[in-house]
Amino acid sequence: MEKGHISVQTENIFPIIKQFLYSDQEIFLREIVSNAVDATSKLKTLVSKGEISVDVDDLIIDIILDEKAKTLTISDQGIGMSEAEVKKYLNQVAFSSATDFLKKYKDEANIIGHFGLGFYSAFMVADKVEVITKSHKKSAKSVKWICKGDPAYEIGKGDRKARGTDIVLHISDDSKEFLDRARIQTLLDKYCKFLPVQIRFGTKTETEWTGEGDDRTSVETEVDNLINNTNPAWKKKPAKLKDDDYKDFYKEMYPYSQTPLFWIHLNIDFPFDLTGILYFPKLNNSMEVQKNKIQLYSNQVYVTDDVKEIVPEFLTLLHGVIDSPDIPLNVSRSYLQSDSNVKKITSYITKKVAEKLAKLFKKDREEFQSKWSEVGTFVKYGMLTEQKFHDKAVKFALLENLNKEFFTIEEYKEKIKAAQTDKHSKIICLYTNTPLEHHSYIESAKSYGYDVIKFDNVIDNHFMQHLEQKEADITFVRVDSDTVDNLVQKEETRESALGEKEQEKIKDLFETALGDGTSGQLDMKALSPEDHPVLITKPEFMRRMKEMQSMQGMDMSMMPDSHNIVVNTNHPLIAQKLLKMKSGEKKERFATYLYDLARLNQNMLKGEDMSKFIERSLEFVK
Ligand code: ADP
Repeated sequence: MEKGHISVQTENIFPIIKQFLYSDQEIFLREIVSNAVDATSKLKTLVSKGEISVDVDDLIIDIILDEKAKTLTISDQGIGMSEAEVKKYLNQVAFSSATDFLKKYKDEANIIGHFGLGFYSAFMVADKVEVITKSHKKSAKSVKWICKGDPAYEIGKGDRKARGTDIVLHISDDSKEFLDRARIQTLLDKYCKFLPVQIRFGTKTETEWTGEGDDRTSVETEVDNLINNTNPAWKKKPAKLKDDDYKDFYKEMYPYSQTPLFWIHLNIDFPFDLTGILYFPKLNNSMEVQKNKIQLYSNQVYVTDDVKEIVPEFLTLLHGVIDSPDIPLNVSRSYLQSDSNVKKITSYITKKVAEKLAKLFKKDREEFQSKWSEVGTFVKYGMLTEQKFHDKAVKFALLENLNKEFFTIEEYKEKIKAAQTDKHSKIICLYTNTPLEHHSYIESAKSYGYDVIKFDNVIDNHFMQHLEQKEADITFVRVDSDTVDNLVQKEETRESALGEKEQEKIKDLFETALGDGTSGQLDMKALSPEDHPVLITKPEFMRRMKEMQSMQGMDMSMMPDSHNIVVNTNHPLIAQKLLKMKSGEKKERFATYLYDLARLNQNMLKGEDMSKFIERSLEFVK
């Protein structure tokens, strides 16, 4: 064997490679397998160009684990290398690219994917690497190259009979984990799942069942343990794929998820090369979905599932794959954010998503509406965070009213404008976040001819504020935030059945009855006799403040629930019954009881208050 020295100009890089980004040692496997894929693809290219003629239909890459010998071998049937090529590519090209890479990035902890370390990443886990190769060229001889993780190497005759390359990694003692079969299987599943050349990792046992009931028998067969789908859906032409193909691919990626709502096939080669499929998953009205479900690939090689820098935040709720060799992979995050290609990619994705939604809305509004409860979360989130997306989405963002009718924002304004415009020309949109609890308020609003929309998504509070900012002419008011006649403030007021003096009396009476156990205002109002005798309202502004603050994680327990009490002086129980009562004690009891009913209606009677209320009610019934 001939001995040589890798020319090291400055320092010995092997110790650095060995401990390079300790936590990410596992990428060596991706790097070595990627090289094997490249070598195989190059051979296929030569064949397709007619430069050589060999059978390339069943080319395979074998991963061979030998626990006893403590080796992991990556064996391909690609173009192979001649002796001169080994010297050139491994001793010079690979070595200097690894050196460059380390020089540039050894201080950067945040390197997406850590691409580019290449062949020499093997020395992160191996203390000796053997390369046994045979070039595809006629009369080429097999070559063996050995390097023990220092600049010295040996090169000599190899014993490979067939074209291709074996990379034999002698796993070092402190990297024993890579001699574990399950660990290697996991890594192959993670990095190699969609590589374009078939990868085989030994064999596995498959059990086949035949017969029924007691006659059921199983036959076990050894089959190839194939790792990858070499032709994943995102690489195919959209026109060639059916709905089921997309669904099947989703299942392949996320076996435990529900069927997605719909998907977008990204496919562009100019001004950058990008393919992929993004899926809208079922959200079930929660934002607690797992992010990091989009995987980034570069030519079918897995890079990362952290796509924050490439995909706008609101779209990180999506699932799927983005594959682009144009995303710079071996650079730091901050660089990535300012990279103009990445910016273009980001806005391309946003645009595509908006277009897809607009198309669905136009083509099949019924269908779009039926999915709105889930799609709406993305859309609202997107409108809140991306101005460009807002501008597109404002045309298909929907509001749903309590009759389960859907309106675009413009349509809704048209619908309610006549009845629900206040004296300041603002259109007042009434909403509820809990139709059940607000039942009596909703009924009351309806009796005035008002429409009520449902805003029950966690994101709706923010969305509402957002729309108020963007659409100058609308305001949102929760249906229990004031008396109905005040919700949409108009000039006219209802006649009161009581005179001023009597109203005063009633007010005094309630003040004494309720004592200082209440916060907020006490108002006498001439509502409809059909409305409740006593009402509790929660002023919109205070309530929203509190909600927003507690959403931001502030402790709001010290801030009392602000509410106002409104006594309906037109209600017969007030105007007649209460006023006519003789005994002061009786009057107070009656007023308290009406107040309790109002609290009950707002779900405000809890614990001791509730027990006392029940006691008092039993007393009444007697
Ligand atoms: P890169 O792959 O980025 O060029 P590497 O350090 O991974 O850098 O590899 C250096 C070179 O060594 C490759 O460009 C290729 O020419 C050669 N090489 C590595 N692995 C193989 C292989 N399995 N078969 C043929 N050539 C290989």
